[in-house]
Amino acid sequence: MILLDRVTKAYGRSATPALDRISLHVEPKEFVIVVGQSGAGKSTLLKLLTREERPSAGKIIVGGIDYDKLKDKDIPLLRRKIGVVFQDFKLLPNRTVFENVAFALEVVGMGNREIRHTVPKVLDIVNLRGKEKRMPLELSGGERQRVAIARAIVRQPKILIADEPTGNLDPKHAWDVISVLEKINRYGTTVLLTTHNQDIVNKLKRRVVTIEHGQIASDRARAAYKV
Ligand code: ADP
Repeated sequence: MILLDRVTKAYGRSATPALDRISLHVEPKEFVIVVGQSGAGKSTLLKLLTREERPSAGKIIVGGIDYDKLKDKDIPLLRRKIGVVFQDFKLLPNRTVFENVAFALEVVGMGNREIRHTVPKVLDIVNLRGKEKRMPLELSGGERQRVAIARAIVRQPKILIADEPTGNLDPKHAWDVISVLEKINRYGTTVLLTTHNQDIVNKLKRRVVTIEHGQIASDRARAAYKV
């Protein structure tokens, strides 16, 4: 499903690459936590997967798509396979919860009837039914992040990338977000989560990939993370 083979990424002429011959294989429906200190290369890894950045060397294949053969016109299709959520939510501030999620469907040309049918189902998954008409500023941080997750999954991507989704949240709201990610994973979506929160890493008992100085320092299956 996700395959990286000796992937290197150097920004500009920088002597030390941000990622240095990373090889990683993620199976469909896996839940993988990516950890590492600031500057280790986590975001670079995620940006290579979403094609925001291109590798300097190495091979990337996601959902059968070989990135070497990817044309610019194929990128929207790739982005539909991969949903992304960020630490700072990136919601549209002047649109309601419903409209924020609906927007992701409008841009791919879905009709109003189908949108009205689809959005409530996704708001159910993220436990936000009843908040359709709220504006982002009227929500807690945890609720805003769950709107962002709803928007990221509404087109049913195979993979959900969550880059520090709990970074701005207090522990209770962080766990609300994590349980939603677990639910989405149970429904069959591959989840890639980066976090600095050791409590989340320990309690989730999932595969943990540690990046240090652009390399994979360890890759542990969930069994090794018993507390
Ligand atoms: P992390 O997400 O683990 O904090 P990053 O992937 O953001 O790490 O960064 C890895 C390294 O790449 C760092 O040394 C960072 O300064 C460098 N880097 C990241 N993005 C850029 C960029 N756009 N241009 C130049 N250097 C970058």
